[in-house]
Amino acid sequence: MISAHKLLDIPFHASPNVGGVMQASPSAVVIHYTGNESLSGTVNWLCDPQARASAHVVIGEQGELVQLVPFNHVAWHAGKSQFQGRSNFNRFSIGIELVNPGKLTRVGEQYCAWFGKAYPKSRVVRAKHQHASETGYWCAYTEAQITALTRLILLLKNHYPIQQIVGHDDISPGRKCDPGPAFPLNALRRQVLHIDRHTADHEDTCEQEKDGEVIASQLNIRDSINGKERRGPLQHGQKLVVLEEEAGWYKVQVQETGWVKKEFVSIRDPQPEKDMQWLA
Ligand SMILES: [Zn+2]
Repeated sequence: MISAHKLLDIPFHASPNVGGVMQASPSAVVIHYTGNESLSGTVNWLCDPQARASAHVVIGEQGELVQLVPFNHVAWHAGKSQFQGRSNFNRFSIGIELVNPGKLTRVGEQYCAWFGKAYPKSRVVRAKHQHASETGYWCAYTEAQITALTRLILLLKNHYPIQQIVGHDDISPGRKCDPGPAFPLNALRRQVLHIDRHTADHEDTCEQEKDGEVIASQLNIRDSINGKERRGPLQHGQKLVVLEEEAGWYKVQVQETGWVKKEFVSIRDPQPEKDMQWLA
């Protein structure tokens, strides 16, 4: 329920980092990630005048909501922004922050956030950001977050003329990466707005890495599928990570990357991906 532009029964922590009342009812929603691991830390920071930033709502990993700014007031979440003929999205959009670490870095067998925390492989999504040329590792949003977010936007749609859901990276390309390729924006748009993404060829596609093991006695590894042998063969039992599959070959990572004949690699069953169900 929304009353006086606030969610009822949801904690409200007023942020001082706000503009005035919007000149018209909000007509867009901008999705962000926090780039950290903590709902309370995010709320504290966005309520600190030094942050000079805010959002209307923050959603934690368990789907908990905290509101910081009434929906008819300008929050400072988008910054310099432009998309489909409109600019300065703070003026007419509702900003929603999802607690998520953002891009992860592979360190040995671990996937670490910029602040050092390691995330389990079940949360790791390998995907290419719409503004990047290479795939990277991103942290999956939780099912609880996506459920809470979907319910919130459906509720907002009942109160305001919401016509558009965009990522911060849609409206501030080059400057912002959030919410990134792990966020199921197409599915959300289909479910809430009944429309597809502005570029129909950009689907929510994520590849899950698979662990494998060499089952041939020796296995050559190559730079490319038709390339020359690059170095001494892998031995039986060698553990590896399968990154991609193409034309009967796996691209694998051992200490370095190369291509091997796939019939000489067995794949271990991946863990069930509960958090990834919404990507279907
Ligand atoms: Zn953002």
